[in-house]
Amino acid sequence: MASEQETVRRRLLELLDRPGNGVCADCGAPGPEWASFTLGIFMCQSCSGIHRNIPQISRVKSIFLDPWENSEVEFMASTGNSAAKAKYEQKVPAFYYCPTHTDCQLLREQWIRARYERSEFIHVERQEPYSAGYREGFLWKRGRDNGQFLSRKFILSEREGALKYFNKHDAREPKALMKIQTINATFQPTKIGNPHGLQITYLKDNSTRNIFVYHEDGKEMVDWFNAIRAARFHYLQVAFPGAHDVDLVSKLTRNYIKEGYMEKTGPKHTEGFKKRWFTLDDRRLMYFKDPLDAYARGEVFIGSKESGYTVLPGLPSSTQGYHWQFGITIVTPDRKFLFACETEDEQKEWIAVFQGVVNRPMLPQEYAVEAHFKHKP
Ligand SMILES: [Zn+2]
Repeated sequence: MASEQETVRRRLLELLDRPGNGVCADCGAPGPEWASFTLGIFMCQSCSGIHRNIPQISRVKSIFLDPWENSEVEFMASTGNSAAKAKYEQKVPAFYYCPTHTDCQLLREQWIRARYERSEFIHVERQEPYSAGYREGFLWKRGRDNGQFLSRKFILSEREGALKYFNKHDAREPKALMKIQTINATFQPTKIGNPHGLQITYLKDNSTRNIFVYHEDGKEMVDWFNAIRAARFHYLQVAFPGAHDVDLVSKLTRNYIKEGYMEKTGPKHTEGFKKRWFTLDDRRLMYFKDPLDAYARGEVFIGSKESGYTVLPGLPSSTQGYHWQFGITIVTPDRKFLFACETEDEQKEWIAVFQGVVNRPMLPQEYAVEAHFKHKP
């Protein structure tokens, strides 16, 4: 005869087959192995670790290893991931970033806290920090040349269509004005060396600038991020009238396709190879001397195969000089770009992502970007 505990667990396991329960309620990772018996949701191990930090809201147990009370399982049966989603995600703004299991800890933690701890998507007035169209406050910003983080005042104003920061607290003129139109923001905790590190890039005189900021408070930082997304969303709604919200939402912020070191040589291919930090942002391959440089040393536009772009493994046989072993050649209508990777795995990964870009047909507005790059040295 099955013990009571076995019966209870079998009932619990059956619940995993119900619609919505087969993936983590918080990040969508498949095969949840944990559950919150106070919220009634199934989740992955990583998210369960975050839930442990809010014990007043959520208590977690292993689905497979912990003992379960019959009443707890009945509560799980009466709730589940779909019901929790319906309750806690009633009013998520279209621009609000909903993380997945590949996102950084901060985004995943704040997504969990926003829903269950702060009930931000039940009470719309709690969304004011990122919905008001105006936000100001202090952020730690990395100094351009010395790498030191200093507290700077930032203002995001949808009316002005810009994010600004000020070097002195009483300064009237901003140190930099970043147009919403050209801004991208992406969390980069590892690169910046801070768990709340946000990279903001913008275009100035058609070249990419980077600033690196953080706030000690995770909520503040994620509020800034979503405020930037809101400003981008409202800008795009005006710029592209009639476009569907879902199409605009995918354009609010971009994560980089790939980043890492490669070696490159100049246009003559006789200059010798230099190690550079590369960032592939959509079709722009930018390179920097250091990952935290304020601006790119150069950029390579990568078009589609129809427009004359090819990615090849290896380097031309005439290539001279000492370089890393695993070469990549990108052929553009104008010239060949030669890169060298330290390992074969890196080479394969870069080729795969370049290939992905080349295989994607170009959008009309991308031809304008390409034309701009052709006139660059
Ligand atoms: Zn998860």
